[in-house]
Amino acid sequence: MAKIGINIATGSLQQPEMIVGIDLGTTNSLVAMIHPETKLPIALKEFDGSSIVPSVVHFDAFGNVEVGAVAKPYLETDPVNTIFSAKRLMGKSYNDIQTHQDFFAYKIIDDNKDSLVKVQVGNQFYSPIELSSHILTALKNRVEHILKTPVNKALITVPAYINDTQRQATRDAGKLAGLDVLRIINEPTAASLAYGLGLDPSEEKTIAVYDLGGGTFDISILRISGGVFEVLSTNGDTYLGGDDLDRAIIEYWMGLMKIDSLDDTKSLKQQLRLAAEEAKIALSNASHFETNFAGEKLSITKEIFENLIASIVDKTMDCCAKAMKDAGLKLADINTVLMVGGSTRVPLVKNTVSKYFNQAVNDSVNPDEVVALGAAVQADILSGNNQNMLLLDITPLSLGIETMGGLMDVLLPRNS
Ligand code: ADP
Ligand code: MG
Repeated sequence: MAKIGINIATGSLQQPEMIVGIDLGTTNSLVAMIHPETKLPIALKEFDGSSIVPSVVHFDAFGNVEVGAVAKPYLETDPVNTIFSAKRLMGKSYNDIQTHQDFFAYKIIDDNKDSLVKVQVGNQFYSPIELSSHILTALKNRVEHILKTPVNKALITVPAYINDTQRQATRDAGKLAGLDVLRIINEPTAASLAYGLGLDPSEEKTIAVYDLGGGTFDISILRISGGVFEVLSTNGDTYLGGDDLDRAIIEYWMGLMKIDSLDDTKSLKQQLRLAAEEAKIALSNASHFETNFAGEKLSITKEIFENLIASIVDKTMDCCAKAMKDAGLKLADINTVLMVGGSTRVPLVKNTVSKYFNQAVNDSVNPDEVVALGAAVQADILSGNNQNMLLLDITPLSLGIETMGGLMDVLLPRNS
């Protein structure tokens, strides 16, 4: 017979310990759980109605840390002490990010090119793991505040295409935030779970998950059969996302203003970055955008924007073609195309993907929340519910051992 705990203080039945799903995003992070009554996944919302926590960490002069929406304005006013896109640095050496260093407005330490990067804020040095743990701590506190109960167990999602060092870094960040990370799951796998795909054991489907977020692009081809999710192939680009769309607008505006570089005025640089993002988001629903910047009127039309970003969108389609090739499939084999990530709200993105796969894309679940919602579904499976479901993943990168002369003998080929 099952034992049921009763909280003597409140008289209420004690719930089994909550396991939450966390989408630790490059740009935005959020937490989701299964609603105890409806049994449906929900993203946890603050009183202001927003489920999204910007993945931004600000350090003040006294070493105090602020995370999320409160930290975001410092991107403009205090850029050197405000860290964004820390996820891009996870498990990376300076060599890995050297060519992209211009992107970061804060100081990345480069004393040893092969060791893992550190970020310098004032006279303190932070690893990307520590920075990510600040975000996870903020998410944990926020959720505990909303649920009014301790939350210590979580699943955290990661892009499908990252290596084991980066996965381990994500686990370590969770541990540092006081979370027992029960599992690291691939974002596209989580997304398909949020769409309820695979819940019907008789369902047989081959799906494409197109995820364009703020900093990374992933395409995954999954086969769902008998409640089993199998990743047939993954591809992507860890330096391609909404940030690049923003950058296209920044470069366009700098051209118009005849400015070559804003390197010495980091606050202006950030201000322009935020204005560009505002323009991009507006252009998802309008044909024209206008704003003021440093006393100048700046504007952009949807048509110009689409011309600027066409090559970026095409790059993602090249990744799609590679993933299709690796999976050994024809376009007609794809039954469903899922849209994931805030940047899939851009009409040109949606249309291009739809044209490529020759079908209407599936975008009914909020693209900002879909990954966290799926992580919550998986958390529920781990709690012992939905036991007929099983997740089967593949290795996105070849695994092997180093042999003489620094060569690698592959033991498990990519996509096994
Ligand atoms: P990540 O998974 O990388 O954290 P998200 O999925 O949260 O990213 O997507 C963030 C990106 O989505 C940002 O670049 C943001 O500007 C972009 N974005 C959000 N809403 C829109 C919109 N309505 N139109 C275009 N881009 C959007
Ligand atoms: Mg994401």
